[in-house]
Amino acid sequence: MKFLDFHCDTAGECYLQKKPLWENDLHISLSRTACFSAYAQVFAIWIPDEKRGDAAFAYYHNVLENFRKEVQENADHIAFCKDGEELQKTLQSEKVAAVLGVEGGAVLGGSLEKLDRLYADGVRLMTLTWNGDNEIARGCFSETNGGLTPFGRQVVDKMQNMRMLIDVSHLNERGFYEVAQCLQRPFLASHSNAKIVDNPYAVARNLTDEQIRTLVRLYGCIGINLCADFLGNDGDTGFDAVLRQIAHFLDLGAEDCLAFGCDFDGCTVHETLNGIEHIPELYAYLLQHGISERQLQKIFFENGYAFLVANL
Ligand SMILES: [Zn+2]
Repeated sequence: MKFLDFHCDTAGECYLQKKPLWENDLHISLSRTACFSAYAQVFAIWIPDEKRGDAAFAYYHNVLENFRKEVQENADHIAFCKDGEELQKTLQSEKVAAVLGVEGGAVLGGSLEKLDRLYADGVRLMTLTWNGDNEIARGCFSETNGGLTPFGRQVVDKMQNMRMLIDVSHLNERGFYEVAQCLQRPFLASHSNAKIVDNPYAVARNLTDEQIRTLVRLYGCIGINLCADFLGNDGDTGFDAVLRQIAHFLDLGAEDCLAFGCDFDGCTVHETLNGIEHIPELYAYLLQHGISERQLQKIFFENGYAFLVANL
């Protein structure tokens, strides 16, 4: 089977825990992705909310240098992809296609020029905020109801011009609609679920039906998050919870926008989903429970692939 995933924190965990990318006990190791006939992964470099200004950029740089070294050491199996053509060629050569992202616009430290540095480094996706506030906008756990700042509007404009993907996961609702309003091209929520779960984390992070309809209308993409808190409560966070999410998205007409953004190595997941090697089992379960093969091919790979080829 083919698989494309819009969000993992594996690059950061390899750096923090000093673990190799090929073989490790994280959610993702390259050696465990041989189960896929094609596999593309957005590797995000997460910027913690405690890191701001120069410290944020320095942290990004350290994680990136470490991850580059890991990719180089595994060059027979994985390659960075900066545009749709590289993505196509890498997958044809049966390597893992790695797209670089940054989770948290705090990395810019309020400087537009830093966006050029990121682009030159190969970063092709940026999540505008994490949970808190930064120079660009307000995160989903912000205590203010602010939207994009004037600097944030400049960032969104520049990202649009340079074809860097704009990711609204973690952004508060007001910021989401401001982004939708000022963009002329599709954007994505790389790892966000539908707001059908009632715990406080899910309420803050998941998308309303109206937000989902907006992404559908603008030909955006939405990655289903496997984080237990965002899928359900009291352990009801396994395959069935993913099925509930998919059924809800399909009811809203998201069949051509839906993908995965598993959040591997960035969250706690149910034991049945505890690693990328379980993805084929999830696929089989969904197929047995009413999602058609055609829909699954779209959700597990084709929608995300078409989105990246069209927008990178
Ligand atoms: Zn996240």
